Amino acid sequence: MSDKGGAEIMKGRPRSERLSSLLSEDELIEDYYEPPPANDSGCWNDYGLSTLQSSGTVTSGSSSMHSGSPEGSDAHTQFSPIIKAGWLDKNPPQGSYIYQKRWVKLDADYLRYFDSEKDVYSKRFIPVSLVTRVASIGDQKFEVITNHRTFAFRAESDADRNEWMRTLQQMVDERKLKASNRMSLFHLANGTLDAVDKCGLLELRGFKNKLYVVVAGDKVFLYKNAEDYRQGIGITYIEMNVGNVKDVDRRGFDLTTPYRIFSFLADSDQEKEEWVEAMQQSIAEALSNSEVAEKIWAVEANQFCADCGSPKPDWASVNLCVVICKRCAGEHRGLGPSISKVRSLKMDRKVWTEELIELFCQVGNGVANQFWAANVPPSEAVHAASGSQERRRFLIAKYKEGKYRRYHPLFGNQEELNKALCATVTTSDLAETQSLVFCGAEVSCFSGDPDFPNPIAIAQQAGQRLQMEFLLQNKNSEIPRVELGSGEEKHYSVVLPSVTHSGFLCKTPSMAKPVQERKSQEEFSRRWCTLNDSIFSYYENNRNPLPNGEIKMGEIVCLVNNPPGTHGFESTFELYIEAERLYLFGMDNSEDIRKWVKSIAKAFVAPHAEELLNHDFERVGRLHYKGGLNLERAKEGWFALAQSTLYAFFEDSDREEPLHLKKLQELSIQGDSLVLVERRRTLYIQGERKLDFSGWVAAIQKAAGSSGDTLSEQQLTESDIPVIVDRCIDYITQCGLTSEGIYRKSGQNSKTTSLLEMLRKDARRVRLKEGEHQVDDVSNTLKRFFRDLGDGLFTKDYFQDWLKTAAIEDEQEKLEQYRRLLSSLPPVNRATLKALINHLYRVQYFSDVNQMNTHNLAIVFGPTLFQTDGKDYKAGRVVEDLISHYVAIFNVDEQEMRKQQDEIMAIIKMRIAGSSSGTQHAGDFICTVYLEEKGMDTEQHVKIPATMTAEELTFEILDRRKITMREKEYWSCFEVNEREEAERPLHYSEKVLPIVHSMGTDSHLVVKKHQSMENMLVYLASRVGDSKHGMMKFREERNLLGLGLSTGFHDRYFILNQSCLRLYKEVRTLKQRIPALENSHRPEKEWPVKNLKVYLGIKKKLRPPSCWGFTVFYENEKHEKQQWYLCCDTQMELREWFATFLYVQNGGNVWPSESSKVRASRTQQDSRLGNISLIPLRGNENEMRNSVAAFAADPLTLL
Ligand SMILES: [Zn+2]
Repeated sequence: MSDKGGAEIMKGRPRSERLSSLLSEDELIEDYYEPPPANDSGCWNDYGLSTLQSSGTVTSGSSSMHSGSPEGSDAHTQFSPIIKAGWLDKNPPQGSYIYQKRWVKLDADYLRYFDSEKDVYSKRFIPVSLVTRVASIGDQKFEVITNHRTFAFRAESDADRNEWMRTLQQMVDERKLKASNRMSLFHLANGTLDAVDKCGLLELRGFKNKLYVVVAGDKVFLYKNAEDYRQGIGITYIEMNVGNVKDVDRRGFDLTTPYRIFSFLADSDQEKEEWVEAMQQSIAEALSNSEVAEKIWAVEANQFCADCGSPKPDWASVNLCVVICKRCAGEHRGLGPSISKVRSLKMDRKVWTEELIELFCQVGNGVANQFWAANVPPSEAVHAASGSQERRRFLIAKYKEGKYRRYHPLFGNQEELNKALCATVTTSDLAETQSLVFCGAEVSCFSGDPDFPNPIAIAQQAGQRLQMEFLLQNKNSEIPRVELGSGEEKHYSVVLPSVTHSGFLCKTPSMAKPVQERKSQEEFSRRWCTLNDSIFSYYENNRNPLPNGEIKMGEIVCLVNNPPGTHGFESTFELYIEAERLYLFGMDNSEDIRKWVKSIAKAFVAPHAEELLNHDFERVGRLHYKGGLNLERAKEGWFALAQSTLYAFFEDSDREEPLHLKKLQELSIQGDSLVLVERRRTLYIQGERKLDFSGWVAAIQKAAGSSGDTLSEQQLTESDIPVIVDRCIDYITQCGLTSEGIYRKSGQNSKTTSLLEMLRKDARRVRLKEGEHQVDDVSNTLKRFFRDLGDGLFTKDYFQDWLKTAAIEDEQEKLEQYRRLLSSLPPVNRATLKALINHLYRVQYFSDVNQMNTHNLAIVFGPTLFQTDGKDYKAGRVVEDLISHYVAIFNVDEQEMRKQQDEIMAIIKMRIAGSSSGTQHAGDFICTVYLEEKGMDTEQHVKIPATMTAEELTFEILDRRKITMREKEYWSCFEVNEREEAERPLHYSEKVLPIVHSMGTDSHLVVKKHQSMENMLVYLASRVGDSKHGMMKFREERNLLGLGLSTGFHDRYFILNQSCLRLYKEVRTLKQRIPALENSHRPEKEWPVKNLKVYLGIKKKLRPPSCWGFTVFYENEKHEKQQWYLCCDTQMELREWFATFLYVQNGGNVWPSESSKVRASRTQQDSRLGNISLIPLRGNENEMRNSVAAFAADPLTLL
């Protein structure tokens, strides 16, 4: 059906007319449109309706659009119902006398015209807000006048003309009235859009000239050019709730709607990524919880920002109950969460409960402004076009100082206010509650009734859900105070929220050292303490007007909530201040202490990091850290430690990031930093101050260690297996698979005990080594670990069920039950059981040699895992079942099985080879090396003595395979990193053993011909100077901190010389450069060459712009690591850069046979060149490249 419909449309409408449907007739069609090739299957078919119809995406809904009412196509535009539509003649473009028939539609926001009533995308839109006048010009004609342009139309009759004019004028007036001094939907006075997310020129297929495209909110607007955009007159806009963005190729992407495909082409792949992202964001915004916004906008007052009047505000302050625009929301945030809790109507799905939505419908902007904006002098009001300073000033006055509010008659009388609040919350009068609360009534005041002690409890009792919601949202709100707002600077330099709390606390004298010993009650003195205006004060007693001492919230660096009973009091907490002192407070009432801890934390933790306080933290505070690429500069972050998770709020971040301490790969102290390595990402926490830092270190170390004897309390691998188990299994796999009686022999008791103790203390640091540890000791350690496990591997709750299952006779039913039980295990238990059974499955595979078949293993492991005495075989039967049906029960992938099998076979072969030759020295390491490529038939097991060089290893492999090296064949040993999809040819003199030791499991060694070596040697021999400079595309590794993260590759200028690699971001003009050649060019980044390891290749996942790239690892003396990527445009460039790296890293000695020759040619260096650091230019990418190319070709011309 849809195919037919499409064909009809095509038949009925000449092609050129269709294609022009997006165009303005102000220009001739030819200006825009490149005609398709004569051949009919050209671009027309690629992008018109026909594509969609043949692919079946257009459904019956769209066919009704073709035949049905004109309004049908606007069904999705919920907020713009069509007010009037009809045919009008549009005055002709210049140079033509023929009027053009246009389908014209008017809605509250736009006057648009189309080729036909069936079109969804207009030829032209004119925002109603920009229309200054509608005028009759006789003969059924009228003009629509904007500041910049006039559009003339002709109706069929005077009556029709008058009707159009009347309706239009009415819309224009309404718009003006409604918005008085606000601007219409996004369009500001100058015509440009408010809240633009991305704009710029883009090629659109079918158009000769680039269009000016604007992504704003949930729409994408197309303009003929930037000038039209400024004037506000566009071609069409695309509602993104029906959009879908799709990558096409490097620079191209499609925006697909049910009505049309827009094929865009960006200037670069980077640009494209940005456009795609912006459009996807726009779709997300269009689709995001618009139900919430719609419900809230159903109340008219909520359709405009409560503060500036901008239409369709999609943000809100949930405690103030006002709906606000994006720009006001930004300023609200600056007020801090104790004044305004800002949330998005569309994106913060979770906060919008039914109660909160209802509250916004009942209170909302109308009721809120009757209170907050009761007395706003017109001179102080803000509107949609106000700048952010103006807005900020206004919002501080409005909400922080309460300057314009309507004062409650009881204002100033605290007791009466509280009483009135307790009474009001039993009624539905939310306006009164609002007035009371923001005039000083205390949300948590004591009502006098112990059963319902505060207004919240009273509201609950009275069934007033909305009252409760309002009170809960404002539990911690700060009451407006005029005296606070004396200067706006104050608010913005001191961003700490003001928290008020008071009560008795017992404190010790402040200390300069960590509290090592338990403090008895006698060492504390009782003090009256208050927290007010960001100052904590303690007094001799509550009648004494002068404090004994004060702690400013801004000075506090850390707050520690001690475990119960740490000191003489039940509950205690510690405060650390910048001046390296700590204060210890305590009380027996843990609830009191909890309140203090909460209040103080809220008062000193930066508002943007307040999310941290949601955790049941044992310590919270600020610390200096380094991470990512910028290791030069330490930044300040906020951290909270809760159980085994360290939550971090990094600078410039807007959300916390959890670090799972039990899963760290490494935790160590290097210099004055604590180093946390999670996967490949590293965080350095710095010891800025000794006192609090030492506390953090101890606490983090403790949290990262094993905290108990159950599985989940152990240090874990990434796959949730305790490191202890992983280490033991790994060792047995490497060294014990063929050991007779493995797991049956018991090993030495004392060795097992000490090994287990060591592993329990910090398994990550234990490396099990052959020679140092005996197979039977390790196997016994693993058994002991399982036998002593708290709660057991199968858990106390379920282990009986496991035992019963073994007795089920029906095989299928039994396996089914095992699978069910398996899925009900906690994740760590499940992963551990799978790893262990997998291991035992491997062990029994070698039962010919080790004599441990499934039954024998089951006899040993049954009682061990079920922690029974082993008198019956029930437990053994379970283990036997699990091993025998390993593949079925654990749903194991066959490929995975085969891969493991291959690995194990390799290990066995290697061991047999090692033992038969009988020349194994202590310290020698056997390693698998491949010839040409990784594979079963190319592997060689080579013993690697400590002295072996890459050249020797290469010869050893070639000898074994009886390959002779011919001239011009550059056989080398490569280290291949499979995970990074990159490889590095080892320098011929490089020692192999350290490399083997540092390689991860996803790396291996290959001996193969170095295909580029000859070219590189030729290049090196032909060059003067040992440096290289030029443009490369640069990309940082996304790091844990989300800092300095740049997705994608960016052009940077690099200079590589004998000592370092420098990166320049901005390339300055020649004129600026000349006067101060040496000093004016500070590189953005600089790395010593000796600390770099350069690999050829970049993993495809990062989508490098070309296949000629490097992966670079950097490690400095402090073992701080970074990783980044460089990409060249051509293979030649890649070779030249790589050759230069090899050259500078090896002092010119790149290849043995050629080395003397190369070195000779290298001796004459041009010292002048070494100092040239910068390339002259400012301009677009192409200009920069050209100039760089010119410079690189003949750098001496510049001197
Ligand atoms: Zn606003």
